[in-house]
Parts: sequence; C-alpha cells; structure tokens
Amino acid sequence: MIENSFPGKDISQDDIQTKFPLCSKKSLDHKSIIKIENIEFGGDHVPVIAGPNTVESLELILKCAHHAKKCKIDLLRGGAYKPLTFPYRSKKYFETRSQGVAWLKEAKKETGLLTVSEIVHEDQLIEMKDSIDILQIGTRNMQNFPLLINCAKSGKPILLKRGFGSSIRDLLGAAEHILLEGNSRVILCERGIVAPHTHRASSRFLLDIQAVPALQEVTHLPVIVDPSHACFWAPWVPALAKASVACNADGIMLEFHPDPKNAAVDPLQPLSFEEIEDLIPNLAAVSEAANNRPLGAKNN
Ligand code: PEP
Ligand code: MN
Repeated sequence: MIENSFPGKDISQDDIQTKFPLCSKKSLDHKSIIKIENIEFGGDHVPVIAGPNTVESLELILKCAHHAKKCKIDLLRGGAYKPLTFPYRSKKYFETRSQGVAWLKEAKKETGLLTVSEIVHEDQLIEMKDSIDILQIGTRNMQNFPLLINCAKSGKPILLKRGFGSSIRDLLGAAEHILLEGNSRVILCERGIVAPHTHRASSRFLLDIQAVPALQEVTHLPVIVDPSHACFWAPWVPALAKASVACNADGIMLEFHPDPKNAAVDPLQPLSFEEIEDLIPNLAAVSEAANNRPLGAKNN
C-alpha cells in the first residue's frame, strides 16, 4: 500500500486510491443506488426520513407514523437507544431500549413505513436485525470500529452519521470499514459539526452544507442531511432543509413531534405536526426546481 506523503485533514489523491478505494468514485458519474425494499437512496428520488427523537411510547410512535404517512414521508425514525451526553436520566429523559424497538416494529406493521433507529452496541443487533430496516450509527460512534464492523457483518443497510468533530476524510475512512466487510449499503449523513460560532447559544453544531458536494465529489455513496441535529433549533430547520435539498442531498432526515415543547429529548429541535406538513411540499418544490429530482421514494 502506498503511504500518504502528506497526511492531513484534506483528501489527497493517495487517499482516494489507498485509504478508501471502495468508497471512492471510479468515474465522474459513478453513483451507488442503495435499495431498501421499495426505497432508493442515491437514485433520481430524494427520500425523506422523519420521526421523533426518541420512541417515547407506543402511542407517540403510532401518532408520528400515521402523520408521516399523511405527509408522504418514506421512512420513520426514532431512537430507542440514545447515547446521551450526560449520564443522568430523569423520568422524562430516558431510553426505551428493547421496548422502543418493539414499538417501532408495531408502527411499521400498522403503517408499512420502513424504520431507522440508532444502534449503540453490537448486542442490540439481536433485537434490531429483524425489526429495524436501517441501522443508524450516530455521530458519537462514527469511529467505533468494532460497532461498525459488527453492524456491517449483519448485512443491514447502515446510516452512518458524520462525527461532529470529524473531517469528511475520517467519515469516508469509517465508511470504508463497512464496505470492506462486504456491506455496500451505506448512506452517509451530514448532521452538523462543531464550530466556534453557531449563531445561537443553543445551537451546538453548525450544518456543514459544503460537505454534501464535497462528499459527492469523492464518493459514490449517497449523502443525506439531518438539519434538525445540526442546528438544534426548530425555527431554522425548514430553511436548512431546503438548502440541503437544493444542494442535491440524496435524502433528508427531520425530527418532528406532536408536542415539541414536551418532547422527552431535545425539545427545541423537533418540528410540530403542522410545520412538517407545511415543509414537505416546499422541499419537494425546491428539489424539483434545483435538481429535477422528485422528493420521496419512487413508489410512495
Ligand atoms: C439522532 O439522530 O437521534 C442522534 C442522536 O443523532 P446524532 O448522532 O447525529 O446526534
Ligand atoms: Mn437526537
């Protein structure tokens, strides 16, 4: 293997050939289509993943699933396992774990929506393998290589979120670990990075919109954006979502909640039912106008 003569945070020609040859594009128009049942990421269409931060209860996830269906959202998201930054969990700030996974499965059964949920430890594969359609690896675990490799070996599609302090070179390195295990169904997700100025005290991260074309220049893997986690502030989410779709993201992930103020986790972040319902047609219009790509999965 050729050594990188100028190691650094930027991507060199050596990197493309020797550090992540499997993730790298082989030609200018090389693009992988990741197919998950009837949904394609990286094709002409731009799928939408949305749902609450946490699968708080069966009632909540069913409500969200039905609303997602109404809004023509393609996949339902919700965390059952949450890597919380601080260890103290209150009555309100909790994980629903196996129970949450089972509730997501129930929501899928009732609405037919495919599900996306975060996995934080390989032991959870046993319960998530058959009930969750896309395993999310969160920002805090992007470089948890044993987790990446075990998830890769499960053969499940993986949504790999960019570490908030990671370069896109690091992100592609992490994705390469998955591809090297023979699992090519990897979707990359930009979800905000740390930066000295985030324009608001509660905005922990800054959406790196530039990461979308930068990644698409180098990799054939689909690149989606999660503006909700990037800005942490619901009033900014519609603008950032539109910007993401306009800059040709291959999908979008949004948080919504029936009662945002009382969301168990991150109550400043989710859109209300009404807000997401209003946003989806606007996103569709932007996507068509900017890139001639219909929003939503082909058959939905
Ligand atoms: C999430 O999607 O709920 C989440 C915790 O995301 P991130 O890993 O990007 O913070
Ligand atoms: Mn979250």
